[in-house]
Amino acid sequence: MLSSVHGQDRVIALLRRAFERSRMPHAYLFSGPRGAPLLDTALALAGALNCQTTPGEGCGQCVSCEKIAGGIHPDVVTLVREGAGQIVPIENVRNQVIARLGLPPHEAEVRVFIIEEATAMAPPAANALLKTLEEPPARTMFVLCTTAPEQLLPTIRSRCQRVRFGAVDVAAATGDDAARAARVAGLAEDLVRAVDGGDDTRLGLASRVAEAKGDPQLVVLAAAQRLHGRASAAATAGDLDAARRSARAAERVLAWHTPLAIHHANPALAIEALIGELVRL
Ligand SMILES: [Zn+2]
Repeated sequence: MLSSVHGQDRVIALLRRAFERSRMPHAYLFSGPRGAPLLDTALALAGALNCQTTPGEGCGQCVSCEKIAGGIHPDVVTLVREGAGQIVPIENVRNQVIARLGLPPHEAEVRVFIIEEATAMAPPAANALLKTLEEPPARTMFVLCTTAPEQLLPTIRSRCQRVRFGAVDVAAATGDDAARAARVAGLAEDLVRAVDGGDDTRLGLASRVAEAKGDPQLVVLAAAQRLHGRASAAATAGDLDAARRSARAAERVLAWHTPLAIHHANPALAIEALIGELVRL
């Protein structure tokens, strides 16, 4: 559902307008700072394009919306970074994108290919995709996401309609819902304490974060903001070791923002892994 994307009102309004006017491009380039909900928005857009009850918006409940949210829709393909090199392999572009293009979508109105970090495509993969972007097939949309658009091939950039996301303001994202804001703040505080080695907070934290319906990513962002704040306070106080430690923890926490969007089916497992990794830092 487009309405499930928080804190990016300008972007969502732009996408809704494009749909209403039937002016959807064949390819979007979503760019924004780390932590911006690029992948979430790409999935929400795929849902909106294919929703059976509320086209242009997404209902979150019809078969199509459910399949997309569960990551099992045959026509909504997300290519993510893999392996030690954290690249999008050329085979994946060939097998999951190029090979399908000769056939119509299985069941979608518009099939959607999402590249979770477009700069992670090696040159052969980027070139293979470029040919497709030059002659886009019918009923097919590409959404390329990146936090570093200037590193993309100019030929790729120029074939996509650019959509710039703003940084996420956690307070704005929770809106007027004070209870929700307090829940996110409390869980973020617990996550930071778990990073500090608070074993008592750690217990059950992953499932509590996961149960914060739709909010695990906000919790992660809020925790990263706290750690960043702590890093600058430590730097100001002259404790550079502590500043570096907090900054590193903040980066690790932020790096989990995207896996949480991908592992939407099981955020508890993702959070558990994040906590385990942070405690070992
Ligand atoms: Zn729906």
